[in-house]
Amino acid sequence: MQGMMMHRPLRISDILSYAAEVHPTGEIVSARTEGDIHRQTYPQTLSRVSQLAHALRARGIGMGDRVATLAWNGYRHFELYYAVSGIGAVCHTINPRLSAEQLIYIVNHAQDRMIFVDTTFVPILEAVKDHLPSDMTYVVMTDRAHMPENSLDALCYEELLDGQPTEMDWPEFPEDTAAGLCYTSGTTGNPKGALYTHRSTVLHALMIALVQGSVFEEGVKVLPVVPLFHVNAWGLPYSAPLIGLTLVMPGPALDGPSLFKLMDQEGVYSAWGVPTVWLGLLAEIKEKGRLPNGFGDVVVGGSAAPRSMIETFEKHGVNVGHAWGMTEMSPIGTHGNMPPDVQALPFDQMIDMKSKQGRRAFGVDLKIVDDDGNRLPHDGQAVGELYVRGNTIVSGYYHNDEATEKAMDAEGWFGTGDIASITPNGILSIQDRSKDLIKSGGEWISSIDLENAAMSHPAIASCAAIAMPHPKWDERPVLVAVAAGEERPGLEEMHAHMAEHFAKWQLPDDLVWVDDLPLTATGKVSKLTLRQQFADYTLPDLR
Ligand code: AMP
Repeated sequence: MQGMMMHRPLRISDILSYAAEVHPTGEIVSARTEGDIHRQTYPQTLSRVSQLAHALRARGIGMGDRVATLAWNGYRHFELYYAVSGIGAVCHTINPRLSAEQLIYIVNHAQDRMIFVDTTFVPILEAVKDHLPSDMTYVVMTDRAHMPENSLDALCYEELLDGQPTEMDWPEFPEDTAAGLCYTSGTTGNPKGALYTHRSTVLHALMIALVQGSVFEEGVKVLPVVPLFHVNAWGLPYSAPLIGLTLVMPGPALDGPSLFKLMDQEGVYSAWGVPTVWLGLLAEIKEKGRLPNGFGDVVVGGSAAPRSMIETFEKHGVNVGHAWGMTEMSPIGTHGNMPPDVQALPFDQMIDMKSKQGRRAFGVDLKIVDDDGNRLPHDGQAVGELYVRGNTIVSGYYHNDEATEKAMDAEGWFGTGDIASITPNGILSIQDRSKDLIKSGGEWISSIDLENAAMSHPAIASCAAIAMPHPKWDERPVLVAVAAGEERPGLEEMHAHMAEHFAKWQLPDDLVWVDDLPLTATGKVSKLTLRQQFADYTLPDLR
């Protein structure tokens, strides 16, 4: 028997209309490329989003058209999220850290019709424009006074909005209509497009709104360092207005001192981003001898949060939520809101639990399988390849059958490429990317575990464990490290430091100091580049 309830299509535009009505004092505060701090409330934002939507329509943008952005976190980027999807077009966020070749590929693959660009990224487009569609419209996201000289024949964002009506009757369309497009910045092969729908985006926003316990109260100030140009800033642009949070957008300055200053001035309670960003902030906290005013919560994800980082934050009284997800999952899969009994554990045990990758979010099904695809138990012990299923997860890649076929299993689950264990109560522990696991003598060594143990040594600022080929053992681990100061402990000292957590054969064969580690476009250590840099390297026992 069918139920008898209305079926209203889920629409992204409803989120902002709701926020403007119910949370009129919620704000978007932006450190702008113009150099100042800009503020606007949700009602003001809705007016400008309406103007932008009218302007897009006036330029012929309609259902299904792709409109790209190349921009930092700021209110204009936020406006594009809503105006583009609101009229049934698709907001394609481009990661400015991609190579020129990848950028050319995705703009042509997505068939973008317009690109909205921050002043700072204009040169990136100028360098590749001859390889982009010749009828592309470029818009620089600033006012007339700050328009840079450019060879793009670009329009000015504020002029585009000028004079347009501040109200919009948002159109209705099926909830499975495409709303957003984000390409994975995979280091091998061409980037692959995750094409989100209105339905997946609204459900994801509701899902996020459930999970961040202490953070998600009306009026709380949240700083997404995680970019709007990748993984939808972990869904914050949609969940924040729903709850009435104030978003503090950091713009281009993401170094420790700049973040500290902005957080201090604005009284940010919760800040979200990848571990590399927090290294800078923690250094500034140490330098200043205090936390930024009001700071009490940090959400870390995108790559494994080192145990030592979690410990340092918690010792300062900052609650750490460790989350896991991926572009293909909108992106949240787990959240770091641990059960109350974890918070009550002795300090070391509590940190152990927070070093895991959090609890499964509602609506995200997880399974782990062995090499033959057989399901493994969720007993916290069994380790296997992680697959996911749910309404906020891609059903395939945009116009890419080959990649789709590789990613989906026969039962319609999506293969994450991560290796994990899961406890009976849904706590996920990522051991590694399948490509980064180190196989020695037929046994696996987790590079994440090695890195965590090494990072807890005070002389190490950051590090990566990579596999090096070995004729007898197949592969052996090598630790590549960046020093925190002058001190450079030897391999034996590192072994002694790490020994407690590992069998002897699992410890690295060598320790190599470098000035910095190569990062991917999303701020993670690029093990692929690192392995390439070590192409001519020979293990000590083979020299
Ligand atoms: P992306 O699509 O760029 O967000 O990358 C997704 C991948 O990042 C995942 O498949 C994981 O390998 C990795 N990742 C994300 N969050 C975490 C985490 N908390 N711990 C370990 N790896 C993570």
